[in-house]
Amino acid sequence: MKKIVTIGEVLVEIMAEERGNGFLEPITLVGPFPSGAPAIFIDQVAKLGQPCGIISAVGPDDFGAVNLERLKADGVDVSAIAVIPDAVTGSAFVRYREDGNRNFIFNIRQSACGQVSLDQGVEKMLGEADHLHVMGSSLFSDKIISLIRTAVERVKAKGGSVSFDPNIRKEMLDFPGMREALVHIFENADIFLPSGDELFLFTEAKEEEAAIAEILTRGTKAVVIKRGAEGASYFDASGETRVPAFSVEEIDPTGAGDSFGATFVTFWLRGVSSGDALLMANASGARAVGVKGPMSGTSTGAELEDFIARHKGERA
Ligand code: ATP
Ligand code: MG
Repeated sequence: MKKIVTIGEVLVEIMAEERGNGFLEPITLVGPFPSGAPAIFIDQVAKLGQPCGIISAVGPDDFGAVNLERLKADGVDVSAIAVIPDAVTGSAFVRYREDGNRNFIFNIRQSACGQVSLDQGVEKMLGEADHLHVMGSSLFSDKIISLIRTAVERVKAKGGSVSFDPNIRKEMLDFPGMREALVHIFENADIFLPSGDELFLFTEAKEEEAAIAEILTRGTKAVVIKRGAEGASYFDASGETRVPAFSVEEIDPTGAGDSFGATFVTFWLRGVSSGDALLMANASGARAVGVKGPMSGTSTGAELEDFIARHKGERA
């Protein structure tokens, strides 16, 4: 089986229990939950029984331990997660506002995972990688941007494949070097997995059909559009495969895109048809939105099959 590797932020998420106006007064918090988009992604890959690992760094603290133990328990190779002596594990405090938007206080750029470097553990992990998954949210420091560039080049040079989920927050586009880094990864990606306006990040076209055509002529083999409660579509040179979402109550949207992407990429690498890979990925996303906690909604293959059997005929 192919080994899937990702690089990026590992952090804990601490959530406000009630909606409100941010963190301006003492409130009840719940956490720490293991988190970080690439960490959620790779945890979902591991639960499907695929060989996988993550390149990152944590501090020698309990927040680091929470993540290392969880990822290891689910089967992720954590040998390339450095424990940096004087650093602190990343964190994110989140509170939902009344309108459903999220208010975050991040400690990521300044945290251990911003200091990840090309050490021996990373060299070994890249040597074993058949597939590399990159998320735009991980491009938050010069060090990690340069490491991701190297990783993309190494994996492509030995005939491996790359997937790219832009997973970008608007504020990040202004970081120095960000645009160039995104373009480099985009141009090397075999599969591109945007949602919403991310489809148009690299295109002249401003409308879906034309944007897809433009992307597919630039070397990307496949585009997977995540459509939230509307499901998802897969596009390649032979056209579109569209699969509707499952109808579920949305409890916590965090992690849906990451779990979806992990499940899609895993089944795609196993040679499963695009329709079946989308069905599994939609089930994975639906299970993720149905529970609170960023990594709480990752699923085993058996859980996905059981979910699909129970929700047959109920799709939106
Ligand atoms: P994120 O907000 O985690 O970055 P995203 O924008 O990348 O997510 P979404 O399209 O929101 O991705 O979610 C990914 C997939 O999860 C969807 O394609 C769908 O299969 C599933 N999903 C998301 N929201 C819902 C929902 N409300 N009901 C059912 N399925 C959902
Ligand atoms: Mg979304």
